[in-house]
Amino acid sequence: MKEFEIIKKYFANQPQFLENVITDIGDDAAIVCVPHGQQLVVTTDTLIQGVHFPKETAAYDIGYKSLAVNLSDLAAMGAKPAWVTLALTLPHSDEKWIQEFTRGFFDLANRFQIKLIGGDTTQGPMSITVQAMGLVTYPETLLRQNAEPGDLVFVSNTLGDAGVGLNIVLQKINIDKKHQAFFLEKLNRPEPQTRLGEKLHGISRCAIDISDGLVSDLNHILTASGVGAEIDIDKIPLSPAMRACIKENEAVKYALASGDDYALCFTVKENIAKQHEALLKEFHCTSIGVITEKKDLRLLHKGKPYTENLHGYQHFE
Ligand code: ADP
Ligand code: MG
Repeated sequence: MKEFEIIKKYFANQPQFLENVITDIGDDAAIVCVPHGQQLVVTTDTLIQGVHFPKETAAYDIGYKSLAVNLSDLAAMGAKPAWVTLALTLPHSDEKWIQEFTRGFFDLANRFQIKLIGGDTTQGPMSITVQAMGLVTYPETLLRQNAEPGDLVFVSNTLGDAGVGLNIVLQKINIDKKHQAFFLEKLNRPEPQTRLGEKLHGISRCAIDISDGLVSDLNHILTASGVGAEIDIDKIPLSPAMRACIKENEAVKYALASGDDYALCFTVKENIAKQHEALLKEFHCTSIGVITEKKDLRLLHKGKPYTENLHGYQHFE
């Protein structure tokens, strides 16, 4: 299948969700209008085979996840998804693969009402670059630099599950069949926290999505804000599957340091957290600690300092 046939058959003519796309796929570039009073939020993430997903990952899941990780970045900015571009590099034009990839991509795109407006299709070692664009109403943005001493630290959802999923795929651990599907789903089809991100306006001023592990990502907030934090490990939410399958010491390490969960970590003033208790509960948000003036990250486990060596994922180590 040729490049233009692929574009026409699989990428053009997708549903429109906002009225402000002037031109999209088919011209040299897309033109969109940012509604008056709103700001454009732009993010991009690349997925490389063998680095961001194991070689045996299903095409559907690659399509899904390439968009999900970008939607997660928009969620961490509190942005409403609007438009997306896709630069796809494939070793050969395998139609069955492309069909499955686009099914995964558009299942998620249509659910979150984000419109594909352009991209590029090339031949080479497999790599997928997605650029997602979202809208926020000025000036309510969730910035890493906005954490202040006394703020409570929240996380949405359970942590560590995707890390277990990755180790199942890499055959580093054995998990009984009954629980495997749960961990693999968490790894391959993370649910972007878009609705929560949008709701956080007026509740939080500071958020990040957990892509590289809680410790690593929370440290980004601490550095950007010039503050520290005290985190009670025992409050970090663990899934029932994690509790059932993984020894506690190991579960703690997954929750603190494994990546790919795409939960949100955000800060809230204590009195505001009280006011919005019902909403925070509805979105499975748990307070796990507090921002401190003292500029380091202190982890407590069963009331004692936790001193295990932890590493989040980093490229170019
Ligand atoms: P040009 O050569 O001018 O860069 P292309 O031939 O690369 O144009 O692309 C033609 C049109 O198809 C453009 O509008 C481009 O945005 C779109 N397009 C190409 N590949 C993709 C893709 N993978 N997903 C979405 N749109 C694509
Ligand atoms: Mg091009």
